[in-house]
Amino acid sequence: MSTSRPRGFTTTILHSDAGDGIEHGALHKPLHLSVAYGYRDARELAAVFQGTAKGYVYGRQGNPTSAALEAKVSKMEGGVSSVCFSTGMAAIGAAMLALLREGDHVVSSRFLFGNTVSLFGTLQAHGIKVTFVDATDVRNVEAALTPATRLVFVETIANPRTQVADLVRIGDLCRGRGVVYIVDNTMTSPALFQPKAVGASLVVNSLTKYIGGHGNALGGSITDTGLYDWTKFPNIAAPYKSQPPAMWGMQQIRKKGLRDWGGTLAATDAHHIAVGSETLALRMARTCSNAQRVAECLAAHPKVRAVFYPGLASHPQHELATRLFRGCGGILSFELADGIDCFDFLNRLEIVVSSSNLGDNRTLAIPVAHTIFWEMGAERRKEMGIAESLIRVSIGIEDEADLVGDFTQALG
Ligand SMILES: *Cc1c(COP(=O)(O)O)cnc(C)c1O
Repeated sequence: MSTSRPRGFTTTILHSDAGDGIEHGALHKPLHLSVAYGYRDARELAAVFQGTAKGYVYGRQGNPTSAALEAKVSKMEGGVSSVCFSTGMAAIGAAMLALLREGDHVVSSRFLFGNTVSLFGTLQAHGIKVTFVDATDVRNVEAALTPATRLVFVETIANPRTQVADLVRIGDLCRGRGVVYIVDNTMTSPALFQPKAVGASLVVNSLTKYIGGHGNALGGSITDTGLYDWTKFPNIAAPYKSQPPAMWGMQQIRKKGLRDWGGTLAATDAHHIAVGSETLALRMARTCSNAQRVAECLAAHPKVRAVFYPGLASHPQHELATRLFRGCGGILSFELADGIDCFDFLNRLEIVVSSSNLGDNRTLAIPVAHTIFWEMGAERRKEMGIAESLIRVSIGIEDEADLVGDFTQALG
């Protein structure tokens, strides 16, 4: 009988590679840079191709370094398997292209990462129907479902306005209707929330953000939580049904999504991300407490019109966020009072950097309407609740007093 006790998040991540026995007892999974793998027995090569033996064939479908990261991501998310990609967008795009066919329907939250909105626009041009709804209320999702609906897509905390999707009820709805439920967990990261807890079928993470955490590598992942019954999904191609049904979805995503579209995560980036993930929980704790403090200071400031952060009692989904998440994340946004130019304000910041990334250790800020949401136009911005003066802040792990001091001096 095993005497092992369940381990905490950080202990699990730190020691996850050791379970498989790393070459020479190395403490980090080595970087495997070989593109191809040779076999002495050609039958073994064929068996690996056919999926009856474990192994690697060609680097586009993964290598031991990215496989070690995939195992880590599965552990973080409590999932059964994961596939890593070169970016978060490559992961989302590959999942959609692998799972959907012409005439299929997707219900998506209207409050989404801008490039995901754009991607759904591309899918629409290819004959996939997408309905955008206010996913903070499950009734809007339910009303949009049709017999052709194959999947529902939401983010945990939406960027930049921080709306929290009606995660639990949407999970119940999808389970009842047999629809695949995809949750983009990038904003919360598995340190704060596991979407499996609300019935997600697949979990998306941009590894570029909090999991990697250091702004030095791009990556993305899809994790299967094991909750969806793939025998109910009409679009699984015959070759992927040779494995147990729990594997069908991910087989198709790895082959049709990763292999055929080629958005492969490089081994060096997998290594950077794996190292970054070791401190994910520590960084998130510090990030959340800094964000809470900055949000409170901004909310109390006369030169700030509105602050959006799920940790504030004034936030519409404050109760849900504090019940579901171990912290309210590092993204907050705010509108300056009339007459204050957002560019002048950003230029007065001395520590906070004007930059488009998020989830870095450094605090970054960006004028949303003029940059990341510029391309979609004023009308669409209005629908998404994005004011022209909105500033998004990605809080980092600096010392709290320095951050509060910087925002306060810049407000003058
Ligand atoms: C950044 C981001 C993505 C895309 O990830 P990349 O690694 O930049 O491609 C997807 N979803 C959310 C919520 C993000 O913040």
